[in-house]
Amino acid sequence: MKFETKVIESTKNHFQNSEPIATPIYLSSTYKRNEDGGYNHDMVYSRENNPNRAILEKSLALLEGGETAFAFASGMAAIGAVLQSLKPGDHVILPDDSYYAARQFAEKIMTRWGLEFTEVDMSDLDTLKSNIKPSTVLIWVESPSNPQLKISDIQAIAKIAHENDALCVVDNTWPTPVLQNPIELGADLVVHSTTKYFGGHSDVLGGCVIAAKNDEFAQRIKDIQYLQGGVPSPFDCWLIARGIQTLSLRVKAQSESAMKLAEFLAQHSSIEKVLYPGLSSHSGHTISKKQMHDGFGGMLSVLIKGDSKKTLEISNQLRYFATATSLGGVESLIEHRQSVEGSESKVPENLLRISVGLENVEDLIADWLRVLG
Ligand SMILES: *Cc1c(COP(=O)(O)O)cnc(C)c1O
Repeated sequence: MKFETKVIESTKNHFQNSEPIATPIYLSSTYKRNEDGGYNHDMVYSRENNPNRAILEKSLALLEGGETAFAFASGMAAIGAVLQSLKPGDHVILPDDSYYAARQFAEKIMTRWGLEFTEVDMSDLDTLKSNIKPSTVLIWVESPSNPQLKISDIQAIAKIAHENDALCVVDNTWPTPVLQNPIELGADLVVHSTTKYFGGHSDVLGGCVIAAKNDEFAQRIKDIQYLQGGVPSPFDCWLIARGIQTLSLRVKAQSESAMKLAEFLAQHSSIEKVLYPGLSSHSGHTISKKQMHDGFGGMLSVLIKGDSKKTLEISNQLRYFATATSLGGVESLIEHRQSVEGSESKVPENLLRISVGLENVEDLIADWLRVLG
């Protein structure tokens, strides 16, 4: 063996028959064929499939109760794949408080592809019905919504969608399947930014689409995943699968703390309003009690008494809430959404969005008390 051959041969995997307890990370981009040119397993090339992605997708389908799941490199790649599965002339109904980049994707990219969309307040079912056209193929739901925490009745919306031969898609990033199960409520597709609670540690980007049925529409999404190639790396899949192992514990603890923080802030004289579906004062409380279980989530928004300057001042003074975008990590985050979204933003200037982490809630409440007085 010459030196050049030694460096290749000596570093090949010699541990194939061992049984590690923790999942190894399979970085291999390609897999060996049989002598007849075929494969006795379904691993060929990593963009199409790989062990870490297969483990993640199987888990995602199981957790959401779907027949199949497709992992993407980000939540937006997953959302994009759903919209790209439609055809020119198709009409989509989006919530008026949808995830900001999802609305931008529809507006900036999909309208050029001939897609039409209407934004509707999904908490008003009559308005929703009156905006359905013969060309409506898809109704998008986000509940609780971002950042206003509006609640939409998923069961009722899925029924309206099906009566009109349209699909109902739910972005379930905020509640996660720990608290809300859209497929059980009638949704056809569930999307996630796995960057958030699934990953759970603010160190990986990811997204997924879970399909209730492994049908022709699901196949279109799989085609986009494979042919467009916006796939997560094996390491990203490994990190998200690792996050899933503690998902239930984290989300329940974060929901419990969010409820306590919401109750505290709701009675404070410096706060104009707390938007949290767990509060009985919230307009969507009854519906969220019906469609969510084990808590109302780790996300809340507050309206400060004051202008954007005062609002930013408060967020900067908090010690345990880092001023950063994103959510669902172990650390608490706070964000002034209007300054992130810019001049077109529909978000009130005095709104702060909070992602409650795993710190002790008494410390979190004391932090607010120190700043608000
Ligand atoms: C973050 C987020 C997305 C986008 O996900 P990325 O992983 O950032 O691409 C979509 N929907 C919701 C509700 C989100 O919070």
